[in-house]
Amino acid sequence: METYRWPGSPMFVNGRFVFGSGGLDLIRIETNEGVTGVGLTWVQESSGVVVRAVTEHIKQQVMGRDPLDIERIWDEIWRLGSLGRRGIATQVLSAIDIALWDIKGKCADMPLYKLLGGYTDRIPAYVSLGFRGEDLNQVISSLEDGIAKGIRAIKMQVGNLTIAEDEERVKMAREVIGPDVKLMLDASTLYRHQEAIVFASKVEKHDIFWIEEPVAPDDIRGSQLVARSTTIPIATGEGEYTKYGFRDLIENRSASILQPDALIMGGITEFMKVAAMAQANDFHISNHGPHHIHAHLLAAIPNALIIEEYFTSETQPIDGGIFLDQMPIVDGHIRPPDRPGLGLQLNEKAIAPYRTG
Ligand SMILES: [Mg+2]
Repeated sequence: METYRWPGSPMFVNGRFVFGSGGLDLIRIETNEGVTGVGLTWVQESSGVVVRAVTEHIKQQVMGRDPLDIERIWDEIWRLGSLGRRGIATQVLSAIDIALWDIKGKCADMPLYKLLGGYTDRIPAYVSLGFRGEDLNQVISSLEDGIAKGIRAIKMQVGNLTIAEDEERVKMAREVIGPDVKLMLDASTLYRHQEAIVFASKVEKHDIFWIEEPVAPDDIRGSQLVARSTTIPIATGEGEYTKYGFRDLIENRSASILQPDALIMGGITEFMKVAAMAQANDFHISNHGPHHIHAHLLAAIPNALIIEEYFTSETQPIDGGIFLDQMPIVDGHIRPPDRPGLGLQLNEKAIAPYRTG
């Protein structure tokens, strides 16, 4: 595991947390036939010491195995449950799984979105604005900027302010972007469910595409109560792990849009299982996390809603430079790379100075 850490600049605030640093945990798996797979995750601890130690422990399950036996390898690592069924162990498993799928795609000489399903090569995309504690004028100018660049869907942070102040922001945002641009609100788990219900009732009239993470990830019942109370779709899942966690969200109807992050929740193998469960229950999938990987996953499935464009050089200066291919939003859409596997082109020079181990 290679760990990279860099200072957060400018400060990224998601409501509850201030992200003073960014980073990347990168795994490269080499086969005896000379194929290299790249997998990613990011564990938010300062030095990367823990993620390297966990990887070292898990590594023995992968060395010497047939890299195409991904289900088997996933299952065996999962059975090491003593390391934890969520959290860092599952994130390391995610990175390994992503690297193995990269290898499989390269062996098949196919881009992953074709290998995994092949539904489309063009996915609607949105960007996140107003996540840095900006004042209202700054938010408005970034909204105007986004619209001028052809962005057709925008997500804003709520929950840092009072409900009345946030309602005013949402009203202004809708006025600035007009009636045709999608507007999502991310509460980043800041509300108790009673507050989220009040907030949703106040902003319902502003044509909100979704409210994201209204309550804490483990408050499945609270999210269910919010979802029942409003006509605004509820999106959640960035803090959830594995098919079991998403099964519980689905069974409880705690949302109608699921946001798995393959880098966190168990990799591509697990993401695709969640997508299939979601389809059978009439849920949409809209990822959390880097679009470079998730473009393949959303392009492979019929129930993708919209992709989060996460790492751009404008919204996150260093994170946005991790890959050489920026995959810009064109006419409100992005396309997955048409190269074999994940088709990732790491900008090794850009990340090298931030390596911590
Ligand atoms: Mg979020």
